[in-house]
Amino acid sequence: MIQVENYIGGKFVTLSDDFDDISPLDFSIIAKVPRTKNVDGAVEAAKSAQPDWGALSIEQRCDWLDKIANELESQIEEIARLESMDTGKPHHVALNVDANRSVNNFRFFADFGRKMESQTFQMPDATNYVVRKPIGVVGLISPWNLPLYLLSWKIAPALLMGNAIIAKPSEITPLTAHFLAKVCSKIGLPEGVLNIVHGYGPEVGQAIVEHPEIRAISFTGGTSTGKIVAATAAPMFKKLSLELGGKNASLVLDDADLDLAVPGVLRASFLNSGQICLCGSRVLVHSAIYYEFMDRYLEELKSFEIGPVISDEHRSKVLSYIELAKQEGGTILSGGSVPDKQGAWIEPTVISGLSHESRTATEEIFGPVVTVHKFESDEEAIKMANCTQYGLAGSVWSKGRGREVAEQIESGMVWVNTWLHRDLRVPFGGVKDSGVGREGGMWSLGFFSEAVNICVMED
Ligand code: NDP
Repeated sequence: MIQVENYIGGKFVTLSDDFDDISPLDFSIIAKVPRTKNVDGAVEAAKSAQPDWGALSIEQRCDWLDKIANELESQIEEIARLESMDTGKPHHVALNVDANRSVNNFRFFADFGRKMESQTFQMPDATNYVVRKPIGVVGLISPWNLPLYLLSWKIAPALLMGNAIIAKPSEITPLTAHFLAKVCSKIGLPEGVLNIVHGYGPEVGQAIVEHPEIRAISFTGGTSTGKIVAATAAPMFKKLSLELGGKNASLVLDDADLDLAVPGVLRASFLNSGQICLCGSRVLVHSAIYYEFMDRYLEELKSFEIGPVISDEHRSKVLSYIELAKQEGGTILSGGSVPDKQGAWIEPTVISGLSHESRTATEEIFGPVVTVHKFESDEEAIKMANCTQYGLAGSVWSKGRGREVAEQIESGMVWVNTWLHRDLRVPFGGVKDSGVGREGGMWSLGFFSEAVNICVMED
């Protein structure tokens, strides 16, 4: 049994009030997690550490990010093991997606920081130059689907820009954040620069968002929680970044290369049991290739390995959508049932025959459930893709018209003939109810700093 501890001011702290961390693989209890309700101590530790940390040069902070990356990399198998146990995902996904990309996040921002160029704006009689100052103490809140990956995506740029951090992973998946704290302690990261607190979202998460001395909140999670976070933080004029839910479409046009499109759309549908905000849970297929595409898609699905969903409670939510789909007139083409074994398992499920405006096809399910829809023209496909409240991501599969169609999709990110192909320099984020702001490269550094302009009059 693992004892998860808070990491505050460089010390590990347990609380008498704790709760169980349950593995979705078999519902066994794998850890005890502190139920933190108050972040005053963490904020004090961060406040006292931040000035020295902010005074280091960018190069020195880049060196620290590299040290974290190196230590994480040397224990990459352990990260994959913990992530797989906590989330239930297959080991190869935990290793290749979660663990590798967590290491890459630290390494990328270290390299990016070293290459950062100063901005100047010349006037005929004066020079403007931009100084990027740390914000101070920042709060980072992340979800359970890609636990260390999404948290490190925020921690690395926040540290790089000289801030001190209060971070809260999801209560459901605390293990790798705790592991990161151990790594930071081992390499001697200055005490109080990174503080990690565990507990329930409406308690410790809310305490972070409410704390007046935490001046920025970077939040990734569901749209309804994002509303609460925004309503709490906005009147305090905190900087706010919200990466929220999605209901992304994969558009398979009539000229698609099916050798690419079938495995690509399948991966977008079911990687991580469909629990990635970028997953394509609506598959839109041109009627001319619909039957050929679907035959191959359903055939390849038979050998696609997925883990359970994150919890019994989440499985109930996913199952309720399968029931709703039946009531809405859908036909289950594959899956739809619960395998006879312990754990939060659910078969990957493909549903056809629904209106693209049905609830099942427009509400975020965040599980291994996909709806498929036929279209007759590019215009119709674009209209279907844009018909939800969300606008996070999407993919278009076409030999010749991919870019043209991609540019008309109302989403922050669209892939053409690929999916989840990530360059960490590009803007990452959603439009409509999928969020506010962008992460990635300069966007992250902009968020985690205050840009100050100095205008110097020439002699
Ligand atoms: P939640 O919104 O339930 O939780 C996200 C985080 O917020 C968790 O750490 C949670 O803590 C915390 N939290 C809950 N209530 C509050 C509160 N009142 N104040 C502050 N923090 C709070 O999302 P899930 O964890 O269920 O994650 C799934 C969602 O995340 C999906 O909607 C998915 O689309 C979205 N997501 C978006 C991504 C993007 O980049 N746009 C990427 C990945 C996921 P606790 O878990 O302890 O309740």
